[in-house]
Amino acid sequence: MLVFVLNKHGKPLMPCKPSKARKLLKQGKAKVVKKEPFTIQLLYGSSGYKQKCIVGIDAGSKNIGIAVTTEDGRVIYKAQVELRQDIKENIETRRRLRRARRNRKTRYRKPRFLNRRRPEGWLPPSIRARVEAHYNLIKKLAQIIPITEIRVEVTQFDVQAILNPNIHGEEYQKGRMHGFDSVKEYVKIRDGFKCHYAKLRPDIPCSGKLTVDHIIPRSKGGADNPSNLVCCCEAHNTAKGHMNYEQFTGQQPPKIEDFRPVAFMNVLKDYLVPMLQKIASTGYIFGLYTRRTRREWGLGKSHIDDAMAIAGIKPRWQDNVWYYIKQVRKKKRSLHEEIPRKGRKEPNKEAKRNSKNTKEIAINGKKWCLWDKVYISDIDKTGFISGFTNNWVYIQDIYGNYLQLSDKYKQINPKKLQLMYRNNNYICERFISTL
Ligand SMILES: [Zn+2]
Repeated sequence: MLVFVLNKHGKPLMPCKPSKARKLLKQGKAKVVKKEPFTIQLLYGSSGYKQKCIVGIDAGSKNIGIAVTTEDGRVIYKAQVELRQDIKENIETRRRLRRARRNRKTRYRKPRFLNRRRPEGWLPPSIRARVEAHYNLIKKLAQIIPITEIRVEVTQFDVQAILNPNIHGEEYQKGRMHGFDSVKEYVKIRDGFKCHYAKLRPDIPCSGKLTVDHIIPRSKGGADNPSNLVCCCEAHNTAKGHMNYEQFTGQQPPKIEDFRPVAFMNVLKDYLVPMLQKIASTGYIFGLYTRRTRREWGLGKSHIDDAMAIAGIKPRWQDNVWYYIKQVRKKKRSLHEEIPRKGRKEPNKEAKRNSKNTKEIAINGKKWCLWDKVYISDIDKTGFISGFTNNWVYIQDIYGNYLQLSDKYKQINPKKLQLMYRNNNYICERFISTL
């Protein structure tokens, strides 16, 4: 275990051993500023030595691995992060509720025209949230560790290298898919710039120019997403016209996997890397090479192992502590509930949980907020407040399992709880790995 250290001015220094931290605290030379990861701030001037600290990020749309390795191969920080997956659903709910509201008898509002085009750099909310989560996590980490370099893994495979092994230099840096705004280009890359119908309909000769074809034609409601698109030449595209795949080829349409994770990785390269650049110099590598490194170093398969391989320095020593961090939803600003009150006709008007913007309850002058980390002495466990009844609370562990005091009720009386500290959008649990 390591204790993270800040200097007198709040700037990060190298972490130290708990014994040293204990001594400093005892002598009144330092104070505790953060419980998890445990961080102290020195109260006296110390220039402190700093080493190069390299962060490896195994980026992902659901799980992220983070590892910090020093230049001499000491792994000083390890974390696995679970991201929220409910953004898309929430945005869709909001959209549906807004639409319903507009169609009710309401005041007249002039139509607006400033919302007909997406601004430059727009990303779907679910992806934007993920990119920002990566950035925020590293920004937070930079507050306790003197980060000098960041390395991110951006794609499972090296698209450019597969298609055109001879490109290098600036062309390679930018990528021929710069921006990746066009799904069409993506589909062409995915299908290797080959006409999908060339072998299925050899009676029609292929033309030189490539485009994409909708498997289910757009006129019949086919979507514009990659799973409905194949790379195809203009001749075959024109010949197919409004026909279904079956009519045109006499075969069942292929089942195309969802390639969103891959698309997400490309988003990372174009959006996240420039953002991280603001924190420290950032470089990116391809998953292909990570796998090889991991095998050579005899690392496992977890996201943290990946992150250590991505950091690029062979681990000589590893801290036995690792953190499981989970992104949670703390605030809610929706105007109204879809279901006013579960199972009842009347909306819940007076109960405390109805005031959604302040998710907290006060009992005997003690305030309990959403995602507070609490200790339950009866079962000797720590958990997080995940919800409220009128006067009691629900407690979950980091994996989302309810902690209960009785078999009958999930809710727990706050009298039984001891507040450890409060949380905002991330909850965190420390684990000791037995190596
Ligand atoms: Zn063709």
